[in-house]
Amino acid sequence: MQVFTSLLVLSIVFIVFIISDINNYKQRRVRNILSLAQIVGNNSIPTLQFQDNEAAKQILSELHNVIPEIVHATILDKNNKAFASYTKPGADSLVMPATLAEEGFAFAGRKLVAESPIVDNGNQAIGKVVIAIELSELEQIRQSKYKLATLLLFMAIGFSLLIAILVQRYISRRLLLLVNRMKEVNETGDYNDPITDNGKDEISTLIKVYNDMLLRIKESQQRKDEFIGIASHELKTPLTSIKGYVELLNLIEEKQPNKQYIQKTLDNIKKLERLIKDLLDVSKIQSGQLELNMQEFNVNDLLHETIVSFQMIASGHKIIKEDALANETVIADRQRIEQVLINLLSNAIKYSPGESRVIVRSRMTDKELIIQIRDFGIGIPKEEQASIFERFYRTKDTSIHISGFGLGLYICRDIINRHEGRIWIETEDRGSAFYFSLPLKTNGNK
Ligand code: ADP
Repeated sequence: MQVFTSLLVLSIVFIVFIISDINNYKQRRVRNILSLAQIVGNNSIPTLQFQDNEAAKQILSELHNVIPEIVHATILDKNNKAFASYTKPGADSLVMPATLAEEGFAFAGRKLVAESPIVDNGNQAIGKVVIAIELSELEQIRQSKYKLATLLLFMAIGFSLLIAILVQRYISRRLLLLVNRMKEVNETGDYNDPITDNGKDEISTLIKVYNDMLLRIKESQQRKDEFIGIASHELKTPLTSIKGYVELLNLIEEKQPNKQYIQKTLDNIKKLERLIKDLLDVSKIQSGQLELNMQEFNVNDLLHETIVSFQMIASGHKIIKEDALANETVIADRQRIEQVLINLLSNAIKYSPGESRVIVRSRMTDKELIIQIRDFGIGIPKEEQASIFERFYRTKDTSIHISGFGLGLYICRDIINRHEGRIWIETEDRGSAFYFSLPLKTNGNK
């Protein structure tokens, strides 16, 4: 837009210059020709007075030596009759313009015609001189000015485009950087990386606003994480002693329905305990304190134990183990991997109400152990699959009907990532299949 506007202004300036240049040229010629006509008139006074036609012709025929563009020159007597005249060989006959300007000139096509009265010493008009010249230079001047203007315009277009491209690149590079960073932050939730920009324009202001916003989000996240950490610590201590007392009561109480009430209280305490554990894990993940205790263990044993103990509380579903593993081992944090398994199994059961089976499969490749937990439940819409590993994320359909906090998968992902493994979901016709992998021969503890 700016390029276009400057080109328009430049074109108008050029046109004005060309017009004024041409006008200057015309005025110069008018002055020349009028003074020439006056000189010729003065010199012709005796020729008219003495009716010396030859001398008059002589004067006129020599005029083209002074101004070669002269095509006609005529001396008229006081009755307006041609007394002597000159016509350039090959020139058209002179057609006198109907009117002349006050000073005595007129433009007729490409010709300039001027006339000047011949006045004798007694101030009596005794005739007049008419001179016509061809404005042959006019077209040349016009052409050369237009050529120059066009050349300058093209140069201006070139320069403007070059500057526009450079400026555009500078602007769009920074805008793109901003957009990409926003996308990145949106995907990773990492608010620790502000953008450095030394510019002083509007984009710098935008970047500064973005950086300020990032800082504020980070601070508020930190406050929230701190609160979650403190609150779960504070809740854990009284809950542990309540659990202890209730377990004691459960041991000594034999009478129904007291025993049943105590059992229900214990179930709810366990639920609360799980939530607090999750919150504490989240707090550890956020502060980078979730540590792994790496050891070598038999994968089949872990799967078997976890499934057997889990099956006891999941009476409505049959957990079927279909594996291709013999006695393979991995090096990992056994307890944390068990936590991942329990989380995925409990989700598989929780989100497949009315279904009767959950399948667990395991296999080894050259590089990794892969475990699959497959249910036949409500499934997860494709567009939400990328989000379910985020903290506090729950799918729109389930969040209303089935209780949960959206923390389990977030913790699972962190545990698996710390093992340098992968966790992902694959779409099935019915239900969902969660996978996680652990690299073989890993010994590092992060
Ligand atoms: P929670 O189950 O406590 O809500 P999770 O982090 O374990 O938290 O799961 C996040 C969300 O992912 C759940 O709220 C649910 O919407 C969805 N989800 C997880 N596992 C399954 C599954 N097996 N089938 C359907 N949806 C699931």
